[in-house]
Amino acid sequence: MRCPCGSEEDFRSCCEIIHHNLFRAETAEQLMRARYTAFAVGNIDFIYNSFHPTARRFQSKQEIKSWANQNKWIQLEILNSTRTTVEFKAHYLDQNFNLNIHHEKSTFKKVQHIWYYAEGMLTK
Ligand SMILES: [Zn+2]
Repeated sequence: MRCPCGSEEDFRSCCEIIHHNLFRAETAEQLMRARYTAFAVGNIDFIYNSFHPTARRFQSKQEIKSWANQNKWIQLEILNSTRTTVEFKAHYLDQNFNLNIHHEKSTFKKVQHIWYYAEGMLTK
């Protein structure tokens, strides 16, 4: 399977490596791609675990799961990335098969050599 993150790599040699070990994301963008892919393949634990600890306590696995599963994730478009931020568009079909774009600028933080998703700001 080609990796859903759009890298043109095989899933097993791309985001799946990071899904198995958060430690393997060397950059904020790699973690962001792996999180998108986790939505596409329904890896709820990874999405949950890659939240920065201060943000994670406000998350519910059930809510993540319904948001991940009710949409069909079509494409990830990275618009800009810096060391700690990634601006992206996630294209998806909602339950009514309407095409939607989730446009977000995310901030990532490193804690003891591991990148985490800290927060996101929606952009219109
Ligand atoms: Zn990937």
